[in-house]
Amino acid sequence: MENAYDVIVAGASNSGAMAACAAAEKGTKVLLIDKQGSSQFLFRSFFAALNSNAQKRAGIKVDKAKLLNFLTLFFQDNVDERLLWTWANHADETANWLEDQILKPNGGVLRPQKDAHYETIVNTAFNTELAIATPDNGWAHYGEWVLNKAQQLGVTLKYNTKMEEILTNDQGKVIGVITSDRASGKKTQYQATKGVIICTGGYGGNVDLMKKWNPLGYKKNVYSDGPRDDGSGILAGLKVGAARDEEPAEIIFDRGAVPVGTKAEDFYKIDFKGPGYFWLGAYPLLKVNLNGERFGNESVPYQFDINAMSKQPGYLEAQIWSEETMDHLAQFDTQGCSRLGWPGIYNTEENKAEIQRRLDDGMVQKADTIEELAEKLALPKDKLVATVKRYNQMCKQGVDTDFGKEKFRLYPVEHGPYYGVIMGGRLLATLDGLRINSNMEVIDKDGNPIPHLYAAGNASGGFFWGSYPDRVPGLTCSHAQTFGRLAGQFAAEN
Ligand SMILES: Cc1cc2nc3c(=O)[nH]c(=O)nc-3n(C[C@H](O)[C@H](O)[C@H](O)COP(=O)(O)OP(=O)(O)OC[C@H]3O[C@@H](n4cnc5c(N)ncnc54)[C@H](O)[C@@H]3O)c2cc1C
Repeated sequence: MENAYDVIVAGASNSGAMAACAAAEKGTKVLLIDKQGSSQFLFRSFFAALNSNAQKRAGIKVDKAKLLNFLTLFFQDNVDERLLWTWANHADETANWLEDQILKPNGGVLRPQKDAHYETIVNTAFNTELAIATPDNGWAHYGEWVLNKAQQLGVTLKYNTKMEEILTNDQGKVIGVITSDRASGKKTQYQATKGVIICTGGYGGNVDLMKKWNPLGYKKNVYSDGPRDDGSGILAGLKVGAARDEEPAEIIFDRGAVPVGTKAEDFYKIDFKGPGYFWLGAYPLLKVNLNGERFGNESVPYQFDINAMSKQPGYLEAQIWSEETMDHLAQFDTQGCSRLGWPGIYNTEENKAEIQRRLDDGMVQKADTIEELAEKLALPKDKLVATVKRYNQMCKQGVDTDFGKEKFRLYPVEHGPYYGVIMGGRLLATLDGLRINSNMEVIDKDGNPIPHLYAAGNASGGFFWGSYPDRVPGLTCSHAQTFGRLAGQFAAEN
Protein backbone atom coordinates (compact mmCIF):
# COMPACT_ATOMS: atom_id res chain seq x y z
CA MET A 1 0.00 0.00 0.00
CA GLU A 2 1.44 3.34 -1.11
CA ASN A 3 0.57 5.20 2.10
CA ALA A 4 1.62 2.45 4.51
CA TYR A 5 4.79 2.83 6.58
CA ASP A 6 6.19 1.22 9.69
CA VAL A 7 7.14 4.47 11.40
CA ILE A 8 5.93 8.02 10.69
CA VAL A 9 7.92 10.94 12.10
CA ALA A 10 6.34 14.41 12.16
CA GLY A 11 8.95 17.21 12.14
CA ALA A 12 12.21 16.92 10.16
CA SER A 13 14.57 18.84 12.43
CA ASN A 14 16.91 17.95 15.33
CA SER A 15 14.72 15.31 16.98
CA GLY A 16 12.75 14.17 13.93
CA ALA A 17 15.61 13.56 11.50
CA MET A 18 17.49 11.65 14.20
CA ALA A 19 14.38 9.55 14.93
CA ALA A 20 13.97 8.77 11.24
CA CYS A 21 17.63 7.71 10.82
CA ALA A 22 17.50 5.52 13.93
CA ALA A 23 14.27 3.79 12.88
CA ALA A 24 15.59 3.25 9.34
CA GLU A 25 18.88 1.82 10.67
CA LYS A 26 16.75 -0.87 12.29
CA GLY A 27 15.35 -1.81 8.89
CA THR A 28 11.93 -0.18 9.07
CA LYS A 29 10.08 1.74 6.36
CA VAL A 30 9.98 5.35 7.51
CA LEU A 31 8.06 8.45 6.43
CA LEU A 32 9.49 11.77 7.64
CA ILE A 33 7.25 14.83 7.13
CA ASP A 34 7.62 18.52 7.82
CA LYS A 35 5.00 21.22 7.42
CA GLN A 36 7.54 23.73 6.07
CA GLY A 37 9.55 23.60 2.84
CA SER A 38 12.97 23.08 4.50
CA SER A 39 14.45 22.29 7.90
CA GLN A 40 18.21 21.85 7.47
CA PHE A 41 19.08 25.25 8.97
CA LEU A 42 17.43 24.31 12.29
CA PHE A 43 20.20 21.86 13.23
CA ARG A 44 22.21 23.56 15.97
CA SER A 45 25.90 24.12 16.36
CA PHE A 46 26.31 23.46 20.08
CA PHE A 47 25.64 19.93 21.28
CA ALA A 48 26.02 18.65 24.87
CA ALA A 49 27.61 15.34 25.81
CA LEU A 50 29.51 14.02 28.82
CA ASN A 51 32.23 11.62 27.77
CA SER A 52 31.91 11.33 24.02
CA ASN A 53 34.86 10.21 21.91
CA ALA A 54 35.63 13.84 21.03
CA GLN A 55 35.70 14.80 24.72
CA LYS A 56 37.87 11.79 25.62
CA ARG A 57 40.40 12.80 22.96
CA ALA A 58 40.50 16.28 24.53
CA GLY A 59 40.93 14.87 28.04
CA ILE A 60 37.52 16.09 29.24
CA LYS A 61 35.45 14.05 31.65
CA VAL A 62 32.16 15.40 32.94
CA ASP A 63 31.04 13.92 36.26
CA LYS A 64 27.63 12.44 35.44
CA ALA A 65 26.18 12.33 38.96
CA LYS A 66 27.35 15.86 39.70
CA LEU A 67 25.84 17.18 36.47
CA LEU A 68 22.53 15.43 37.05
CA ASN A 69 22.32 16.57 40.65
CA PHE A 70 23.01 20.09 39.41
CA LEU A 71 20.19 19.82 36.84
CA THR A 72 17.83 18.39 39.46
CA LEU A 73 18.58 21.32 41.75
CA PHE A 74 18.34 23.82 38.91
CA PHE A 75 14.85 22.53 38.04
CA GLN A 76 13.90 22.21 41.74
CA ASP A 77 13.10 18.60 40.81
CA ASN A 78 10.02 19.65 38.84
CA VAL A 79 11.10 17.12 36.22
CA ASP A 80 11.14 13.37 35.72
CA GLU A 81 14.66 12.53 36.93
CA ARG A 82 14.51 9.27 34.97
CA LEU A 83 14.48 11.32 31.78
CA LEU A 84 17.54 13.31 32.88
CA TRP A 85 19.45 10.08 33.48
CA THR A 86 18.20 8.57 30.22
CA TRP A 87 19.60 11.58 28.39
CA ALA A 88 22.94 11.41 30.25
CA ASN A 89 23.24 7.68 29.55
CA HIS A 90 22.71 8.13 25.79
CA ALA A 91 24.02 11.59 24.83
CA ASP A 92 27.54 10.25 24.16
CA GLU A 93 26.21 7.58 21.78
CA THR A 94 24.41 10.32 19.85
CA ALA A 95 27.51 12.54 19.73
CA ASN A 96 29.62 9.60 18.51
CA TRP A 97 27.04 8.66 15.84
CA LEU A 98 26.95 12.28 14.71
CA GLU A 99 30.73 12.40 14.51
CA ASP A 100 31.21 9.04 12.75
CA GLN A 101 28.17 8.90 10.48
CA ILE A 102 27.56 12.55 9.65
CA LEU A 103 30.51 14.83 10.32
CA LYS A 104 33.55 12.74 9.35
CA PRO A 105 32.19 11.68 5.92
CA ASN A 106 31.28 15.31 5.14
CA GLY A 107 34.36 17.08 6.49
CA GLY A 108 32.88 18.34 9.77
CA VAL A 109 34.36 18.11 13.29
CA LEU A 110 33.17 18.05 16.89
CA ARG A 111 35.16 20.60 18.85
CA PRO A 112 35.07 20.22 22.65
CA GLN A 113 35.13 23.36 24.81
CA LYS A 114 37.63 22.48 27.49
CA ASP A 115 37.54 25.86 29.23
CA ALA A 116 33.76 25.97 29.63
CA HIS A 117 33.94 24.75 33.22
CA TYR A 118 33.77 27.24 36.07
CA GLU A 119 32.11 27.49 39.43
CA THR A 120 30.59 30.24 41.50
CA ILE A 121 27.36 29.71 43.42
CA VAL A 122 25.09 31.28 40.79
CA ASN A 123 27.29 30.23 37.97
CA THR A 124 28.35 26.60 38.07
CA ALA A 125 29.05 25.57 34.49
CA PHE A 126 29.97 22.28 32.88
CA ASN A 127 32.15 21.64 29.85
CA THR A 128 29.54 19.63 28.03
CA GLU A 129 29.72 21.74 24.90
CA LEU A 130 30.74 20.27 21.56
CA ALA A 131 30.81 22.81 18.77
CA ILE A 132 29.79 21.26 15.47
CA ALA A 133 32.17 23.02 13.15
CA THR A 134 34.34 22.79 10.06
CA PRO A 135 38.06 22.11 10.58
CA ASP A 136 38.85 25.81 10.01
CA ASN A 137 36.37 26.83 12.75
CA GLY A 138 33.50 27.76 10.46
CA TRP A 139 29.83 26.84 10.77
CA ALA A 140 29.12 23.25 9.69
CA HIS A 141 25.70 23.24 8.04
CA TYR A 142 25.21 19.63 8.98
CA GLY A 143 21.40 19.56 8.83
CA GLU A 144 21.63 18.82 5.14
CA TRP A 145 24.08 15.98 5.83
CA VAL A 146 21.70 14.39 8.38
CA LEU A 147 18.73 14.65 6.00
CA ASN A 148 20.82 13.17 3.15
CA LYS A 149 21.84 10.32 5.45
CA ALA A 150 18.18 9.67 6.29
CA GLN A 151 17.35 9.39 2.61
CA GLN A 152 20.37 7.13 1.98
CA LEU A 153 18.94 4.88 4.69
CA GLY A 154 15.69 4.70 2.72
CA VAL A 155 13.59 7.28 4.58
CA THR A 156 10.89 9.00 2.48
CA LEU A 157 11.08 12.74 3.19
CA LYS A 158 8.03 14.88 2.38
CA TYR A 159 8.15 18.63 2.96
CA ASN A 160 5.11 20.95 2.99
CA THR A 161 3.21 18.13 4.67
CA LYS A 162 1.64 18.91 8.02
CA MET A 163 0.48 16.36 10.55
CA GLU A 164 -3.08 17.44 11.33
CA GLU A 165 -4.40 14.50 13.25
CA ILE A 166 -3.22 11.28 14.87
CA LEU A 167 -5.38 8.23 14.15
CA THR A 168 -6.16 5.53 16.70
CA ASN A 169 -8.07 2.24 16.53
CA ASP A 170 -10.87 1.15 18.88
CA GLN A 171 -8.32 0.01 21.49
CA GLY A 172 -6.67 3.44 21.51
CA LYS A 173 -3.56 2.23 19.63
CA VAL A 174 -2.04 4.79 17.26
CA ILE A 175 -2.30 3.55 13.67
CA GLY A 176 -1.46 6.54 11.48
CA VAL A 177 -1.87 10.22 10.75
CA ILE A 178 -3.85 12.59 8.58
CA THR A 179 -1.73 15.24 6.87
CA SER A 180 -2.49 18.35 4.86
CA ASP A 181 -0.58 19.72 1.89
CA ARG A 182 0.74 23.25 2.55
CA ALA A 183 -0.26 24.68 -0.83
CA SER A 184 -3.52 22.90 -1.65
CA GLY A 185 -4.72 21.92 1.82
CA LYS A 186 -5.42 18.43 0.42
CA LYS A 187 -5.75 15.85 3.18
CA THR A 188 -4.00 12.46 3.01
CA GLN A 189 -4.17 9.50 5.34
CA TYR A 190 -1.00 7.51 6.15
CA GLN A 191 -0.79 4.22 8.00
CA ALA A 192 1.92 3.53 10.61
CA THR A 193 2.16 -0.10 11.73
CA LYS A 194 4.87 0.45 14.35
CA GLY A 195 4.48 3.99 15.58
CA VAL A 196 4.05 7.72 15.13
CA ILE A 197 6.75 10.00 16.57
CA ILE A 198 5.86 13.62 17.34
CA CYS A 199 8.95 15.80 16.79
CA THR A 200 7.16 19.03 15.98
CA GLY A 201 8.91 21.41 18.40
CA GLY A 202 7.27 23.90 20.75
CA TYR A 203 4.64 26.62 20.60
CA GLY A 204 6.50 29.95 20.86
CA GLY A 205 5.17 31.03 17.46
CA ASN A 206 1.56 30.69 18.57
CA VAL A 207 0.39 33.78 20.47
CA ASP A 208 -2.81 32.17 21.75
CA LEU A 209 -0.95 29.18 23.19
CA MET A 210 1.74 31.44 24.70
CA LYS A 211 -0.96 33.49 26.46
CA LYS A 212 -2.61 30.30 27.72
CA TRP A 213 0.35 28.08 28.64
CA ASN A 214 3.11 30.64 29.33
CA PRO A 215 1.57 34.08 30.04
CA LEU A 216 4.68 35.54 31.71
CA GLY A 217 6.80 34.26 28.82
CA TYR A 218 4.54 36.19 26.49
CA LYS A 219 5.09 39.40 28.49
CA LYS A 220 8.83 39.19 29.15
CA ASN A 221 9.79 38.17 25.61
CA VAL A 222 9.80 40.82 22.92
CA TYR A 223 10.88 38.46 20.14
CA SER A 224 10.20 34.83 19.33
CA ASP A 225 12.72 33.18 17.01
CA GLY A 226 10.44 30.23 16.18
CA PRO A 227 7.66 31.26 13.78
CA ARG A 228 7.03 27.64 12.76
CA ASP A 229 6.53 26.58 16.41
CA ASP A 230 2.73 26.56 16.30
CA GLY A 231 2.19 23.81 18.89
CA SER A 232 0.20 21.74 16.38
CA GLY A 233 1.96 18.47 17.23
CA ILE A 234 1.37 18.96 20.95
CA LEU A 235 -2.30 19.72 20.29
CA ALA A 236 -2.62 16.58 18.13
CA GLY A 237 -1.14 14.52 20.98
CA LEU A 238 -3.53 16.04 23.52
CA LYS A 239 -6.48 15.07 21.31
CA VAL A 240 -5.61 11.38 21.61
CA GLY A 241 -5.33 11.52 25.41
CA ALA A 242 -1.74 12.60 26.09
CA ALA A 243 -0.79 14.38 29.31
CA ARG A 244 1.12 17.66 29.08
CA ASP A 245 3.50 19.47 31.42
CA GLU A 246 1.48 21.68 33.75
CA GLU A 247 4.11 24.41 34.03
CA PRO A 248 6.08 26.21 31.35
CA ALA A 249 9.74 25.80 30.46
CA GLU A 250 11.64 27.91 27.99
CA ILE A 251 14.99 28.95 26.57
CA ILE A 252 15.39 32.73 26.44
CA PHE A 253 18.28 34.96 25.37
CA ASP A 254 18.83 38.41 26.88
CA ARG A 255 19.45 39.77 23.41
CA GLY A 256 16.20 41.45 22.32
CA ALA A 257 16.81 45.16 21.59
CA VAL A 258 13.63 47.23 21.19
CA PRO A 259 12.90 50.89 20.38
CA VAL A 260 12.77 53.27 23.34
CA GLY A 261 9.16 53.56 24.52
CA THR A 262 8.23 49.95 23.66
CA LYS A 263 5.49 48.43 25.80
CA ALA A 264 6.82 44.89 26.28
CA GLU A 265 3.47 43.41 27.31
CA ASP A 266 2.07 44.10 23.83
CA PHE A 267 5.27 43.58 21.86
CA TYR A 268 5.91 40.01 20.66
CA LYS A 269 7.55 39.89 17.25
CA ILE A 270 7.70 36.42 15.76
CA ASP A 271 10.49 36.38 13.20
CA PHE A 272 13.39 33.94 12.79
CA LYS A 273 15.47 36.50 10.91
CA GLY A 274 16.23 38.14 14.24
CA PRO A 275 15.09 41.77 14.22
CA GLY A 276 16.69 43.70 17.09
CA TYR A 277 19.28 40.97 17.58
CA PHE A 278 21.80 42.17 20.15
CA TRP A 279 24.57 39.71 21.08
CA LEU A 280 26.21 42.07 23.57
CA GLY A 281 23.06 41.79 25.71
CA ALA A 282 24.36 38.44 26.95
CA TYR A 283 27.41 40.17 28.44
CA PRO A 284 27.36 40.92 32.19
CA LEU A 285 27.71 44.69 31.73
CA LEU A 286 25.83 47.26 33.82
CA LYS A 287 22.07 46.70 33.58
CA VAL A 288 19.34 48.88 35.10
CA ASN A 289 15.55 48.84 35.21
CA LEU A 290 13.35 51.49 33.57
CA ASN A 291 13.70 53.55 36.77
CA GLY A 292 17.45 53.74 36.21
CA GLU A 293 18.24 51.48 39.17
CA ARG A 294 20.52 48.48 39.14
CA PHE A 295 18.46 45.47 40.29
CA GLY A 296 20.74 42.43 40.43
CA ASN A 297 23.93 40.59 39.61
CA GLU A 298 24.24 40.80 35.83
CA SER A 299 26.62 37.86 35.92
CA VAL A 300 23.94 35.17 36.24
CA PRO A 301 22.89 32.68 33.55
CA TYR A 302 21.46 34.64 30.64
CA GLN A 303 17.94 33.51 31.24
CA PHE A 304 18.07 34.49 34.92
CA ASP A 305 18.81 38.04 33.81
CA ILE A 306 15.48 38.05 31.95
CA ASN A 307 13.68 36.45 34.91
CA ALA A 308 14.98 39.19 37.22
CA MET A 309 13.99 41.80 34.64
CA SER A 310 10.47 40.37 34.46
CA LYS A 311 9.97 41.41 38.09
CA GLN A 312 10.84 45.02 37.21
CA PRO A 313 8.43 47.65 35.85
CA GLY A 314 7.67 47.33 32.15
CA TYR A 315 9.30 43.87 31.70
CA LEU A 316 12.37 45.56 30.15
CA GLU A 317 15.91 46.54 31.14
CA ALA A 318 18.58 48.92 29.88
CA GLN A 319 22.21 47.95 29.30
CA ILE A 320 24.77 50.73 29.70
CA TRP A 321 28.41 50.67 28.56
CA SER A 322 31.10 52.87 27.08
CA GLU A 323 33.43 52.81 24.10
CA GLU A 324 36.21 51.56 26.40
CA THR A 325 34.15 48.58 27.52
CA MET A 326 34.12 47.33 23.94
CA ASP A 327 37.89 46.84 23.96
CA HIS A 328 37.77 44.83 27.19
CA LEU A 329 35.12 42.26 26.34
CA ALA A 330 37.54 39.34 26.65
CA GLN A 331 37.93 39.96 30.39
CA PHE A 332 34.25 39.10 30.97
CA ASP A 333 35.15 35.54 29.91
CA THR A 334 31.66 34.37 29.01
CA GLN A 335 31.25 30.82 27.73
CA GLY A 336 28.82 28.80 25.66
CA CYS A 337 27.02 30.67 22.90
CA SER A 338 27.93 34.10 24.27
CA ARG A 339 31.69 33.64 24.43
CA LEU A 340 33.76 36.08 22.43
CA GLY A 341 34.99 34.60 19.16
CA TRP A 342 34.07 31.32 17.54
CA PRO A 343 32.85 28.90 18.79
CA GLY A 344 30.47 31.42 20.29
CA ILE A 345 29.75 34.86 18.96
CA TYR A 346 31.53 37.65 17.22
CA ASN A 347 35.00 38.95 17.90
CA THR A 348 35.40 42.54 19.16
CA GLU A 349 35.38 44.09 15.70
CA GLU A 350 32.25 42.22 14.64
CA ASN A 351 30.61 43.18 17.91
CA LYS A 352 31.34 46.84 17.18
CA ALA A 353 29.89 46.38 13.70
CA GLU A 354 26.67 45.00 15.18
CA ILE A 355 26.44 47.98 17.52
CA GLN A 356 26.80 50.25 14.54
CA ARG A 357 23.92 48.42 12.82
CA ARG A 358 21.76 48.87 15.92
CA LEU A 359 22.77 52.55 16.09
CA ASP A 360 21.70 52.89 12.46
CA ASP A 361 18.31 51.30 13.07
CA GLY A 362 17.79 53.41 16.20
CA MET A 363 17.81 50.60 18.80
CA VAL A 364 21.14 51.56 20.41
CA GLN A 365 21.63 55.12 21.71
CA LYS A 366 24.99 56.91 21.92
CA ALA A 367 25.78 60.03 23.97
CA ASP A 368 28.68 62.09 25.31
CA THR A 369 27.31 62.25 28.83
CA ILE A 370 25.27 59.93 31.06
CA GLU A 371 22.63 62.69 31.37
CA GLU A 372 22.21 62.83 27.62
CA LEU A 373 22.14 59.02 27.40
CA ALA A 374 19.41 58.90 30.07
CA GLU A 375 17.34 61.34 28.05
CA LYS A 376 17.74 59.30 24.87
CA LEU A 377 16.76 56.09 26.69
CA ALA A 378 13.83 57.81 28.51
CA LEU A 379 15.35 56.87 31.89
CA PRO A 380 15.25 59.20 34.95
CA LYS A 381 18.41 61.30 34.63
CA ASP A 382 19.31 61.70 38.31
CA LYS A 383 18.76 58.04 39.06
CA LEU A 384 20.93 56.85 36.17
CA VAL A 385 23.73 59.28 37.04
CA ALA A 386 23.68 58.07 40.67
CA THR A 387 23.60 54.41 39.62
CA VAL A 388 26.56 54.79 37.24
CA LYS A 389 28.53 56.70 39.89
CA ARG A 390 27.98 54.00 42.50
CA TYR A 391 28.73 51.23 39.99
CA ASN A 392 32.01 52.91 39.02
CA GLN A 393 33.02 53.23 42.67
CA MET A 394 32.46 49.52 43.25
CA CYS A 395 34.36 48.67 40.05
CA LYS A 396 37.32 50.69 41.33
CA GLN A 397 37.19 48.98 44.72
CA GLY A 398 36.92 45.63 42.94
CA VAL A 399 34.00 44.52 45.12
CA ASP A 400 30.34 44.57 44.16
CA THR A 401 28.89 45.17 47.62
CA ASP A 402 25.38 45.55 46.18
CA PHE A 403 24.98 42.28 44.25
CA GLY A 404 28.24 40.30 44.37
CA LYS A 405 29.30 40.29 40.72
CA GLU A 406 32.73 38.71 40.22
CA LYS A 407 35.67 41.13 40.29
CA PHE A 408 36.85 40.27 36.77
CA ARG A 409 33.44 41.24 35.42
CA LEU A 410 33.42 44.70 37.00
CA TYR A 411 34.35 47.29 34.41
CA PRO A 412 33.55 50.98 35.03
CA VAL A 413 31.45 53.11 32.68
CA GLU A 414 33.72 56.10 33.08
CA HIS A 415 34.54 57.90 29.90
CA GLY A 416 32.34 58.78 26.96
CA PRO A 417 31.09 58.13 24.45
CA TYR A 418 28.46 56.11 26.29
CA TYR A 419 26.05 53.61 24.86
CA GLY A 420 22.70 52.24 25.98
CA VAL A 421 19.96 49.97 24.74
CA ILE A 422 16.53 48.89 25.97
CA MET A 423 16.15 45.11 25.95
CA GLY A 424 13.67 42.35 26.61
CA GLY A 425 13.75 38.59 26.22
CA ARG A 426 14.24 36.70 23.01
CA LEU A 427 12.43 33.35 23.12
CA LEU A 428 14.33 30.65 21.27
CA ALA A 429 11.93 27.85 22.09
CA THR A 430 9.39 26.60 24.59
CA LEU A 431 10.56 23.42 26.34
CA ASP A 432 7.39 22.11 28.01
CA GLY A 433 5.43 19.48 26.13
CA LEU A 434 3.77 16.08 26.04
CA ARG A 435 4.66 13.80 28.93
CA ILE A 436 6.78 10.80 27.96
CA ASN A 437 8.37 7.87 29.78
CA SER A 438 11.98 6.71 29.46
CA ASN A 439 11.07 4.74 26.31
CA MET A 440 9.93 7.99 24.70
CA GLU A 441 6.34 6.72 24.74
CA VAL A 442 3.73 9.44 25.20
CA ILE A 443 1.81 8.81 28.42
CA ASP A 444 -1.68 9.72 29.57
CA LYS A 445 -2.49 11.40 32.87
CA ASP A 446 -2.34 8.03 34.68
CA GLY A 447 1.16 7.42 33.37
CA ASN A 448 0.04 4.71 30.91
CA PRO A 449 1.68 4.77 27.48
CA ILE A 450 -0.56 5.52 24.52
CA PRO A 451 0.35 2.48 22.38
CA HIS A 452 2.60 3.29 19.41
CA LEU A 453 2.77 7.04 20.14
CA TYR A 454 6.19 8.60 20.80
CA ALA A 455 7.49 12.14 21.20
CA ALA A 456 10.92 13.76 21.38
CA GLY A 457 12.53 17.21 21.45
CA ASN A 458 10.60 20.32 22.38
CA ALA A 459 7.24 18.69 21.66
CA SER A 460 7.98 16.40 24.61
CA GLY A 461 8.12 17.34 28.27
CA GLY A 462 9.19 16.22 31.72
CA PHE A 463 12.82 17.18 31.10
CA PHE A 464 12.95 20.96 31.55
CA TRP A 465 11.15 23.23 33.99
CA GLY A 466 11.22 27.02 34.15
CA SER A 467 14.48 28.35 32.80
CA TYR A 468 17.04 26.76 30.49
CA PRO A 469 20.31 25.72 32.21
CA ASP A 470 22.58 27.52 29.76
CA ARG A 471 25.63 26.53 31.81
CA VAL A 472 25.16 23.02 30.42
CA PRO A 473 25.73 24.34 26.91
CA GLY A 474 24.12 22.50 24.02
CA LEU A 475 21.52 20.75 26.19
CA THR A 476 18.36 21.43 24.13
CA CYS A 477 19.94 20.26 20.89
CA SER A 478 21.37 17.18 22.61
CA HIS A 479 18.06 16.46 24.37
CA ALA A 480 16.23 16.69 21.02
CA GLN A 481 18.71 14.60 19.03
CA THR A 482 19.33 11.98 21.74
CA PHE A 483 15.63 11.45 22.52
CA GLY A 484 14.87 11.50 18.78
CA ARG A 485 17.28 8.61 18.22
CA LEU A 486 15.86 6.67 21.16
CA ALA A 487 12.26 7.22 19.98
CA GLY A 488 13.17 5.95 16.50
CA GLN A 489 14.84 2.85 17.95
CA PHE A 490 11.97 2.05 20.34
CA ALA A 491 9.27 2.56 17.69
CA ALA A 492 11.16 0.30 15.25
CA GLU A 493 11.20 -2.46 17.84
CA ASN A 494 7.36 -2.75 18.00
C1 LIG B 1 18.63 30.92 16.79
C2 LIG B 1 18.63 29.68 17.64
C3 LIG B 1 19.84 29.10 17.98
C4 LIG B 1 19.85 27.96 18.77
N1 LIG B 1 21.06 27.39 19.06
C5 LIG B 1 21.09 26.29 19.84
C6 LIG B 1 22.33 25.63 20.10
O1 LIG B 1 23.39 25.99 19.59
N2 LIG B 1 22.33 24.57 20.94
C7 LIG B 1 21.17 24.09 21.49
O2 LIG B 1 21.24 23.14 22.28
N3 LIG B 1 19.98 24.64 21.21
C8 LIG B 1 19.90 25.72 20.38
N4 LIG B 1 18.69 26.27 20.05
C9 LIG B 1 17.46 25.57 20.48
C10 LIG B 1 17.20 24.40 19.52
O3 LIG B 1 17.16 24.90 18.19
C11 LIG B 1 15.88 23.67 19.77
O4 LIG B 1 15.76 23.30 21.11
C12 LIG B 1 15.80 22.44 18.85
O5 LIG B 1 15.74 22.87 17.51
C13 LIG B 1 14.61 21.57 19.15
O6 LIG B 1 14.54 20.57 18.18
P1 LIG B 1 13.14 19.88 17.83
O7 LIG B 1 13.44 18.82 16.84
O8 LIG B 1 12.43 19.51 19.06
O9 LIG B 1 12.23 21.02 17.19
P2 LIG B 1 12.48 22.04 16.02
O10 LIG B 1 13.91 22.17 15.69
O11 LIG B 1 11.73 23.25 16.43
O12 LIG B 1 11.77 21.36 14.76
C14 LIG B 1 10.42 21.07 14.71
C15 LIG B 1 10.06 20.80 13.24
O13 LIG B 1 8.72 20.32 13.19
C16 LIG B 1 8.03 20.94 12.12
N5 LIG B 1 6.59 20.89 12.45
C17 LIG B 1 5.93 21.58 13.40
N6 LIG B 1 4.63 21.21 13.44
C18 LIG B 1 4.47 20.25 12.51
C19 LIG B 1 3.36 19.46 12.09
N7 LIG B 1 2.16 19.58 12.66
N8 LIG B 1 3.55 18.57 11.08
C20 LIG B 1 4.77 18.43 10.48
N9 LIG B 1 5.86 19.16 10.85
C21 LIG B 1 5.71 20.04 11.86
C22 LIG B 1 8.62 22.33 12.04
O14 LIG B 1 8.44 22.88 10.77
C23 LIG B 1 10.10 22.05 12.38
O15 LIG B 1 10.87 21.82 11.22
C24 LIG B 1 18.64 27.40 19.25
C25 LIG B 1 17.42 27.99 18.90
C26 LIG B 1 17.41 29.12 18.09
C27 LIG B 1 16.08 29.73 17.72
